[in-house]
Amino acid sequence: MLLVGIPLAFSIGCGVPEESSADTADLVLANAKVWTGVEGEPFAEWVAVRGDRITAVGSGTPPDAKKTLDMNGRLVIPGFNDSHVHFASAGGLLLGVNLLDVNDDEGFRQRIQAAAERLPKGSWITGGDWGAYEAWAMGSEGGESTATQYVPRRSLIDEHTPDHPVLVVRFDRAMGLANAAALDELGIVSETGILKEEELQAALGSVPEKSFERRMAEARGALLECRRWGVTTVQDMSPLDQLDVYDRLREDGELTCRIHFSPSRLSDYEMMIEKEWTVGAGDEWVRFGTIKTHIDGIMGGRSARFFEPYDDNSPDVPNWRGGWREFSGDLEKFEEMLTAADAARIQLRVHAIGDEANSIMLDILERIEKNNGTRSRRFRLVHAQVIHPKDFDRIGQHEVVAEVQPYHCTDDMRWMEERIGHERCKGAYAFRSLIDAGCTLAFGSDWPGTNASYYPVNPLFGLYAAVTRQTINGTPPEGWFPEQRLSLEEALRAYTYGGAYASFEENDKGRIKEGQLADLAVLNTDLFETEPSEWLEARVDYTIVGGRIVFDRSREEG
Ligand SMILES: [Zn+2]
Repeated sequence: MLLVGIPLAFSIGCGVPEESSADTADLVLANAKVWTGVEGEPFAEWVAVRGDRITAVGSGTPPDAKKTLDMNGRLVIPGFNDSHVHFASAGGLLLGVNLLDVNDDEGFRQRIQAAAERLPKGSWITGGDWGAYEAWAMGSEGGESTATQYVPRRSLIDEHTPDHPVLVVRFDRAMGLANAAALDELGIVSETGILKEEELQAALGSVPEKSFERRMAEARGALLECRRWGVTTVQDMSPLDQLDVYDRLREDGELTCRIHFSPSRLSDYEMMIEKEWTVGAGDEWVRFGTIKTHIDGIMGGRSARFFEPYDDNSPDVPNWRGGWREFSGDLEKFEEMLTAADAARIQLRVHAIGDEANSIMLDILERIEKNNGTRSRRFRLVHAQVIHPKDFDRIGQHEVVAEVQPYHCTDDMRWMEERIGHERCKGAYAFRSLIDAGCTLAFGSDWPGTNASYYPVNPLFGLYAAVTRQTINGTPPEGWFPEQRLSLEEALRAYTYGGAYASFEENDKGRIKEGQLADLAVLNTDLFETEPSEWLEARVDYTIVGGRIVFDRSREEG
């Protein structure tokens, strides 16, 4: 349901900017319900900001300021810190074309046409991943022939895309569709435009790289989406050349979200040592110090590694229990590289989904601690999706940060039990058990998701998922494994402080207290006084980064 907007009231405080004393705040958010995230003092009524930092937080009469915004009782929280995004892909999808939920002619034509109107003439329209939700709705998984019935043809879009070569793909990447302009450029003759196998691979390989301007435009789109949802830090794993985009945005004063950047090829650790990208490197806008890698695959493709076989294996491979990734295929070498990166004070951030994968990572961590000595590592277990009951205690003992995505839970639970059975699901997305074990949760979105699912950056979806463990339609009524639900405060903490802690930045971010960066979000809905189902409709009224109002919904939506 839509909430009635609270009228915005701006009032200018009595301080006169030029004559105000050095102590006068630049900005005060007054008459607010401030959730501070500070233990023991969770609520206050106003926040004062000077420069890019919070100078005071309190209740009662607020101090004078150059500018005072009357919050009319609205909820003010620390800006969201999304600990897991793929920023460049998200921007590409926002500006390009998203066909995940498309499986008919009309939808296909409309989406492609809209992308052509958005993009400058001559730019390619690629990706798309049509038909993903059609497949899932049929209770199936990627790649099965019955799951992918919709087949488009170029005659649907040719007349709408004379100036845009189009080469979009089906979600399983086994089929592509090229329009007349693309076929022309590729030198291929095809009446339908449908390409498969080698022809498709060759065509994809010939698509020219995106121009820098296009990538800038994509990043601007993604930044707007972050501002819209109160996200003030993203922890990004884009390809390395994305750093050029951040540099330019920053020079131009357009960077409205702080970036924590992780290279995501394990072999990059040597380059990181050379560049001194160790923990703490960079500054408050672009921070380094972490390397991301994978130990296993994913549930969707049954490539996540388990101790026991999948429950729904085909009779041909009854004992299949998942596999490894690029670098973990040789576990000894994998551990050597991780150990060397850790010795150079690079923080490790490893994708682990299956219970055995998570368990092996903990074994490796224990050996690293032994070999490289004890220190605050905050090893990041990325996804930590299915944990074996014997491993929760170990996670707590080693200061592990679980970098988890609560929205995944509600998206995956549709088929999790079928795939790994009820017993193993007890340790799946087990946020309560992780907290109880002493683990810090760092929430994130995994925006924009995979070729089979779109994960929105909107943190309200994540809060909803963590607190209810229900689909966005409210099922199951009591939540999926409801004993793993979190309180709202725990979920908020994981989406603010948790991410800051994960990147060793908790002294600067994640709470509303004196000395912290003034990164704030103002919501139009009091999450503490409403049902979680209402959070899905909640909106962010203001996003403030470093004391600067970067999003004001009343202006954006006029
Ligand atoms: Zn991811």
